[in-house]
Amino acid sequence: MNTVSIEKMDWVTYRELTEKGNRKIILPVGAIEQHGPHMSLNPDVLIPSYIGEKVAEKAGNMLVAPAITYGYKSQVKSGGGNFFPGTTCVSGSSLENYVFDVLRAYVNHGNREFILINGHFENSMSLCEAADKLVNQCRAEGITVKVYLLSYWDFISEETIAKVFPDGFTGWAVEHGGVLETSIMLKIHPELVDMSKAVDVAPATFPPYDVFPADPSWVAPSGTLSSPLKATAEKGELILDECISGIVHHLG
Ligand code: ZN
Ligand code: MN
Repeated sequence: MNTVSIEKMDWVTYRELTEKGNRKIILPVGAIEQHGPHMSLNPDVLIPSYIGEKVAEKAGNMLVAPAITYGYKSQVKSGGGNFFPGTTCVSGSSLENYVFDVLRAYVNHGNREFILINGHFENSMSLCEAADKLVNQCRAEGITVKVYLLSYWDFISEETIAKVFPDGFTGWAVEHGGVLETSIMLKIHPELVDMSKAVDVAPATFPPYDVFPADPSWVAPSGTLSSPLKATAEKGELILDECISGIVHHLG
């Protein structure tokens, strides 16, 4: 069996591939979070997992680890909020420790380089903490480890944005459940998208602060922060191609 996916390998194959420590291990990190009534709860998991697999296939010197499924608490201004049924999140310390433990296990197998592909904005700082802690702990033991941390949307160029949002781009902050994620899901998992249930909403606007407890009236009842109606699989393919080739170009 020829695969880049660690979870699909037998342990002997995995050992052969990793014992020299020259494979970069990709760890997708997502979240279980509502993305509107038209889409499953797991785009933040499936998108970085798909990108990770394609990057590893293209690069030839990488393997993909099983994704971290649960992520840091959905915030109103980036993910609709932690109060939606189905949105199922963990604290920053849990995520940090869990990611750290997983990376540490891969280090113990002999791996030395990691690429964290983040699919959920709110995870970012917990992943910084996990990476920082891993590098420091390993250094104290005389092991040199390198961790690259990226969010896939940072690889999307102005040209692609202009093609995907011909009517004007309202910013990544309101792309939760909108054209970006819906287009990618239409490309990679059309069976998890039902465009007949997509709700047209104006791009969300928020006050320049957060409030706790969260105020559900800040978010459209459908849960997306912008409209998914103009999503297409073609747009998804365009976005994915650029993210995949960009990551391979920089880190391959
Ligand atoms: Zn998302
Ligand atoms: Mn998210």
